[in-house]
Amino acid sequence: YANRLKGSEKNVWVEFTKLASEPGVLNLGQGFPDFQAPEHVVKSLQKAIGSGNKFVHQYTRPFGHPRLIKALSEVYSPLLKRPVDPMTEVLVSVGAYGSLFCIIQGMVNPGDEVIIIEPYFDCYEPMVRTAGGIPVFVPLRPSKHGVKMSSADWKLDPKELESKFSDKTKLIVVNTPNNPLGKVFVQSELEMVAELCKKYDVVCVADEVYEWMTYPGIEHIKIATLPGMWDRTITVGSAGKTFSVTGWKLGWSVAPENLLMGAKLVHQNSVYTCPTPIQEAVAEGLELEIDRRDSVDCYFKSLALELLPKRDELAQVLEGLGMHPVVPEGGYFMLADISQMKVDLSDYNKDEPKDFKFAKWMIKEKKLAGIPPSAFYCSEHKQMGENYIRFCFIKEDETLKSAEDILRKWK
Ligand code: PMP
Ligand code: GLN
Repeated sequence: YANRLKGSEKNVWVEFTKLASEPGVLNLGQGFPDFQAPEHVVKSLQKAIGSGNKFVHQYTRPFGHPRLIKALSEVYSPLLKRPVDPMTEVLVSVGAYGSLFCIIQGMVNPGDEVIIIEPYFDCYEPMVRTAGGIPVFVPLRPSKHGVKMSSADWKLDPKELESKFSDKTKLIVVNTPNNPLGKVFVQSELEMVAELCKKYDVVCVADEVYEWMTYPGIEHIKIATLPGMWDRTITVGSAGKTFSVTGWKLGWSVAPENLLMGAKLVHQNSVYTCPTPIQEAVAEGLELEIDRRDSVDCYFKSLALELLPKRDELAQVLEGLGMHPVVPEGGYFMLADISQMKVDLSDYNKDEPKDFKFAKWMIKEKKLAGIPPSAFYCSEHKQMGENYIRFCFIKEDETLKSAEDILRKWK
């Protein structure tokens, strides 16, 4: 295979999805719901396919199905506090993964630097490297350890952040709410990033796939709404996350036309267009949410409320076991501190970070799967993640109860 792909062989999802699929293993690893998708979007997909409209089975517009881009423009115009032009300022891709790939491949020249905040959704790094770019990492650092940790305790050091910017910097990726930490960046943090983007002429890739999943009292702020930032931000979203349909693999980028140019070129010359029935169904789903935007039934609001007791219950059980959780402000993942857990890992590959060994041990001995967070750090910073395990809690109460039984019986 091509030289530029060398070094990108290891992938935590490929490895752990296989391990977690062993019989009898309870999977709190990869992030996907094990409950039914909202009935209305499932019905919309059935309707799209069964409607008798023969064109729904054929190619649609390359940069996004007309009905979907219109719905996205209606959803995002108020959120971004400006009219979003559906025809020029939206690009629909194969999942947010596809959006990120098209943006990075479409914007980064060899030698360009891309700032990535750690811990980060792992694909940013290989995407930058295979484009010939140089990832430059800056960690969020926890200000406390032990009991009652919150994702809000993890912060960027302003000086350290600025030290990463230079005239070589092309992009910064800001993921809020963050995966795996659940941190939701506050206004002052986003302002700090925004000021640096303007000072160093950098484009911000705002990965906001968990935009609707913030917990009470926590506000998700779009960096694109900060003064001067619409012109230098590409906001990424995901139907998979928004509607709990991760298998639908539909995502989008919203940005000024000039910023989407590179991504559109990559898209048109790779996948060209996304599946029409899926786009039709997501469009109809969004239309319904727009109509009931102010109602408690709106899925944009109800999902987080459904997740809240799951988050709190899991946090409490982990705390009881001494696996101190970092309670997330958003998203559906929780880090748990494994440093106090007495486990013999001597049989496991000594070249791997501790959390990889621990996660494999936990699958084998406890039949419980999580994800090792050092996968979300660069090779020099793996030790910052290796005392944690990431659990996914967008699961049926029954699934979480079984996981909690395992955790309660641990000792
Ligand atoms: N960004 C983040 C932060 C994610 O957690 C995910 C989940 N896979 C993605 C992007 C990709 O989303 P999608 O499933 O829509 O490709
Ligand atoms: N975003 C999900 C997670 O972090 C899914 C990852 C993936 O599909 N590779 O678990």
